[in-house]
Amino acid sequence: MRKILVFLILSIVGLTFAFYINYQVQSGDTLYSISKGFGIPIPVILDWNPEVSPSSLKVGQKLKIPFVPGVMYKPVKTLTLSDLAKIFFIDPEEILAINPSIGSKVTAGKEVFVPLGKVNTSFTQLADYIWPAYGRISSEFGWRIHPIYNKTMFHTGIDITADTGNPVFASRSGVVKFAGWKSGYGNLIIIDHGSGIETYYAHLSKINVFVGLRVEKGDLIGRVGSTGTSTGPHVHFEVRIGSEANDPVAYLPRTNTYVMRRVLSE
Ligand SMILES: [Zn+2]
Repeated sequence: MRKILVFLILSIVGLTFAFYINYQVQSGDTLYSISKGFGIPIPVILDWNPEVSPSSLKVGQKLKIPFVPGVMYKPVKTLTLSDLAKIFFIDPEEILAINPSIGSKVTAGKEVFVPLGKVNTSFTQLADYIWPAYGRISSEFGWRIHPIYNKTMFHTGIDITADTGNPVFASRSGVVKFAGWKSGYGNLIIIDHGSGIETYYAHLSKINVFVGLRVEKGDLIGRVGSTGTSTGPHVHFEVRIGSEANDPVAYLPRTNTYVMRRVLSE
């Protein structure tokens, strides 16, 4: 609680300061104990410390730990505050509260701290699944002419176009079954939700989870990229039931304010 107070006071005063502390790993520490001690989810710790894995954690190693759950985001193009909030599925006020001098625009290439605390509570109670990323569906589930192989192939998920570095959220709570490279998919996360249900998140630029990690719906599990067989930054998202690919759109919420709307004229 005290660290949050200090953080808020510093933001109000408007001092230039870092959004994190350097924590030196102590003997007996695990990612789980550090996460619990600071109240910061493991995927957030890994987003700040991409070189860290549960097995690589060493005594004396320095970790960046944010004061509150949140990540740094560097837009590839200048965004309005409202666009930025949509990308993170939060209210613009939550970003303003922590960046009082942010203004109405976020300049391309300039890092901004975005809090994640309410991603889980603001909209995720409404549906079993949430959209894994904010963007436009650029390719539907089903038969299509493959953009790279130029032949008719079955598309086992949907493609959501988004900028490199944009957050990718767990669509449902579950346990990470796969986190790593898989040909075609590039950097891929598979989450097991029980009862034979799995979700896939492909072409990521960054993976913030590891096999066996329990993740909650709305956790920031990775970042958008264009790894594997891909023509540009997007998330390829699949919902598999009993290993069979289903149309993800059938499971995703349609009525929430933050639900991405397809541009029907395109
Ligand atoms: Zn795809």
